[in-house]
Amino acid sequence: MKRCILWLCESKEQTSPAHAASYDCDSCNRSFKSEQALGQHIESSLAHACSSMYPTHHGGVSRLLEEEGLYFIFHDVDDSAGCNREYDTNIKGWFMCRNRTCASRGWSSKRVAITIRMYPGAKYNARVYHQRCKGCNDLSRPRLDGSYAERVAYRIKKCGAALVSKLCQVRTRFDMGDFHRHIQIVL
Ligand SMILES: [Zn+2]
Ligand SMILES: [Zn+2]
Repeated sequence: MKRCILWLCESKEQTSPAHAASYDCDSCNRSFKSEQALGQHIESSLAHACSSMYPTHHGGVSRLLEEEGLYFIFHDVDDSAGCNREYDTNIKGWFMCRNRTCASRGWSSKRVAITIRMYPGAKYNARVYHQRCKGCNDLSRPRLDGSYAERVAYRIKKCGAALVSKLCQVRTRFDMGDFHRHIQIVL
């Protein structure tokens, strides 16, 4: 099918230099019209990134937090600037090698690196690191299991518990006006 399309292109525009070279991304099984378009794809595609975030998994984290009466918002900016705390840990995940020239079908990992960050205003996010295929060295974005939500919620709960105990200590030392101001600063 693909050869057919190529043949049609070549037969129609044999003189066009644009068809002399092909700009394929083997990892994604996609073709691009120019080197610039291919470069742009490699820069912007999640398949070629070293890490990414999973905002679609926020629901799972929220459900676990709500059991403890905690409500957090997903901070959708992958930047540690302005965060109160950062934790590095591991979760589980499954990787698929998308490179069509590679023999590897994928691998699972119990050590997918993740950085969980807490921000003021009861916000959090988590950066998940991609892994390289041992067969072709291409980067792969993992498919995550329930360990993501469990690990992230566990961290937030622990941090929340630490904050509550800190605020309780503070409460005994300040009047209520100071207490509310302090809550705003800490959270
Ligand atoms: Zn690609
Ligand atoms: Zn591979």
